[in-house]
Amino acid sequence: MPKKAIIVGAGLAGLQTAWFLHNDGWDVTVVERREGVALETSLANGGLITPSHAAPWNSPGIFRALLSSLNDETAALYLKASAIPSYLLWGMRFLRNSTYSRYFRTIERNSRLAHFSQGVLNEMTDSLGLRFDSDRRGTIMFYRNRRSLDRVTPINKYIAASGVRVNPCSTDELIRIEPALDRIGDGLCGGFYYPDDQHGDAHLFCRALAARLSEAGVELRFGETVNGFETQGSRITGLVTDKGRLAADAVVLAAGFWSREIGRKLRLRLPIKPVKGYSVTFDVSQASRKPAIPVVDDDAHIGMTPLGNRIRFVGTAEFSGYSPEINPTRIDNLRRAALTTYPDLAPIINAADPVSTWCGHRPMTPDCLPIVGQSGPENLYLNTGHGYLGWTTASGTSRAVADLMSGRQPYLSEDHYSMRRF
Ligand SMILES: Cc1cc2nc3c(=O)[nH]c(=O)nc-3n(C[C@H](O)[C@H](O)[C@H](O)COP(=O)(O)OP(=O)(O)OC[C@H]3O[C@@H](n4cnc5c(N)ncnc54)[C@H](O)[C@@H]3O)c2cc1C
Repeated sequence: MPKKAIIVGAGLAGLQTAWFLHNDGWDVTVVERREGVALETSLANGGLITPSHAAPWNSPGIFRALLSSLNDETAALYLKASAIPSYLLWGMRFLRNSTYSRYFRTIERNSRLAHFSQGVLNEMTDSLGLRFDSDRRGTIMFYRNRRSLDRVTPINKYIAASGVRVNPCSTDELIRIEPALDRIGDGLCGGFYYPDDQHGDAHLFCRALAARLSEAGVELRFGETVNGFETQGSRITGLVTDKGRLAADAVVLAAGFWSREIGRKLRLRLPIKPVKGYSVTFDVSQASRKPAIPVVDDDAHIGMTPLGNRIRFVGTAEFSGYSPEINPTRIDNLRRAALTTYPDLAPIINAADPVSTWCGHRPMTPDCLPIVGQSGPENLYLNTGHGYLGWTTASGTSRAVADLMSGRQPYLSEDHYSMRRF
């Protein structure tokens, strides 16, 4: 009889773990409280699969940046004063990880994970023929300000040393790679092209993978909330949901930001806090000129990703607690950024209703690395805390969790990514 694995959460992390466990011969069930797959943080993210983004958010100097954004709703990085008490302990750890040595250590670990993950993702999508408005044409990071460009140049050298191909580019070179930037060329002072980055729609990917999971006999239980666990000694024997009890030989917690709350039921103190972000997506099928390559305006912290006949503008990081409400000021900021980068799209951005406006909560850890591996009860495995980079990293962490559960040595060092590091 195959062993029974239950996965909590049907986002990027849960579904990919389900796929690898199924291939390893487990009998897999995924329990998801929403009515379908990837309806939370994996729904309308930036679509970027970017080892080049290995630098964590808590760079040296983050404290000053956060303080200056206090209660400024227009800032890309926004700290809400009333939310400070709920971030206090986590925030101190976040700041402790912003020393130069830890910052560079995280770049190295994120980069190693992202490379591994990208290989795993491509192998899976190629072999299954999954379609998700994806492309492998690299990404561009541009600068309007020489000081910012000079500031990030040494960091990019470090990222290059960790194995990411980084091509420093003049503005003319950037425009040769993405001609749609030519209207704003006079205002740019260059940037970087990362040829190995890629992009795609995470929600479409999850839906395509879920279809394969169902065909393969994996049970996907939607509209069911995990409320607790049954344990015997040091093992979990079952999950208690709002619909009943499910027996399990092993459990994978892949519940994004909610993992913290569920973990408490097993006396786990997962250091995960929500950091809210927004996206707005337009249909550009009628545009005379469509951007083809994802572009990031680093100073504005805004990403612009072509996804088939759509383009998505994404950004902002709000340390404001959990709230599913969409703040229209944030969406206006994204629209403005879209117009200042692609003025040719003005008729669409000004006139049309977006295909979607969205907010999601990044499940952030204090060192901006995910939490992967066994923890707490001996048959509980974590695949969570993917923060700002989960589309880039969740394939690799899912492979690693399946390896661990199936008795293989994972490629990733457990010491660097498990709860043990905290
Ligand atoms: C604005 C924004 C832009 C981003 N852009 C990028 C990007 O460009 N590139 C990149 O690499 N990453 C990006 N990310 C990060 C990435 O989207 C996340 O790291 C990733 O989606 C996390 O996936 P997950 O499966 O861990 O969590 P989720 O997708 O949130 O999945 C967790 C699931 O668990 C379910 N769940 C929770 N509690 C329970 C319960 N009690 N019972 C049953 N089910 C439960 C939830 O309903 C949810 O479906 C972005 C994030 C945001 C917010």
